[in-house]
Amino acid sequence: MVMLISAQAGRLPSSLPETMRAVAKTEPARGARLITTAVPTIGPRDVLVQVRATTVCGTDLHLYTWDAWSAGRVKPPVTIGHELGGTVVAVGSEVTTVAVGDFVSAETHVVCGHCYQCQTGQAHVCANTRILGVDIPGCYAEYVAVPASNIWKNAATLPLEWAPLQEPLGNAVHTVLAGDIAGRTVAVIGCGPIGIMACAVAKACGASTVIAVDLNAFRLELAGRMGASHLIKADEEDAVAAVHALVPGGVDVICEMSGHPKAMRDAFRMVRAGGRYSILGLPSRPVELDVANDIVMRGVTVQGITGRRMMDTWYQVAHLLNARQLDLDPLITHHMGLEDIDEAMELMISGNCGKIVLTP
Ligand code: ZN
Repeated sequence: MVMLISAQAGRLPSSLPETMRAVAKTEPARGARLITTAVPTIGPRDVLVQVRATTVCGTDLHLYTWDAWSAGRVKPPVTIGHELGGTVVAVGSEVTTVAVGDFVSAETHVVCGHCYQCQTGQAHVCANTRILGVDIPGCYAEYVAVPASNIWKNAATLPLEWAPLQEPLGNAVHTVLAGDIAGRTVAVIGCGPIGIMACAVAKACGASTVIAVDLNAFRLELAGRMGASHLIKADEEDAVAAVHALVPGGVDVICEMSGHPKAMRDAFRMVRAGGRYSILGLPSRPVELDVANDIVMRGVTVQGITGRRMMDTWYQVAHLLNARQLDLDPLITHHMGLEDIDEAMELMISGNCGKIVLTP
């Protein structure tokens, strides 16, 4: 069973400071603030990680802009951020699998360990999931407390800035490898960082054709550098026609990363009959689909993807990175500090960035 982060005071080494800098959602409104707060205490099954690199995710942008999803879920004040790489500086009294000094990242979904899903190999859809940096204090901070069971130990040879990227890369790996991919034709709809990584994963895992579809020229160019074989700028050409020109009859696999209603509907006309349509993108509202014509009569398999399979996906990610079958360097476009949070979020809104690394 997973021990959730304890609110009770634990003992921390006296060498650690009592306070730290962190970026927190301090009130239920747009924005986030750099604050000074207590270094988290840990329960007997938790570890304390000194954060050495963290990366900005679209989820953090939702929290920053305080959209409907954030307003319905988050209870300020909470430290945000969840993609991390760092060094363990303290472990709880019952922790035996992680040691002080370990170079680690973390699975960000803290699951209950006792629900139906957790007991049957589907912990990534645990009914009681709590998310780091959303429901519990996150890693836009100098230190973060994480249950030991969520810790992923990195190879010493892993570049520090790739460590936090394993979490979103896990979303891409989970989506792309949720079905057959070798020798298949794939269209990735939406080229935010996870979509770009999906292009790279599809190529690395043997897809024959990887079509990237987006509106943003900067991100399409990045998708091309990371592995897409064809780029479609959907506001300049008919994306459905362009896909059929490249792959007559439609692609074998759609990886939906945009959450955009029109793009989602269009993609049902890009996938071949009998193909796979895997959805990671989150639409902000219900989306109307032509179920009879686009799904049932064409025998399309539609699949929801969330999080990373625990810990299967983490092993796949680590193996791809440790074997250098993927190069994440081109994706890292900006380096900033915690104090630059507003600038980082504005950059995310513009879309003219890959991954932004924040160094606490
Ligand atoms: Zn559970």
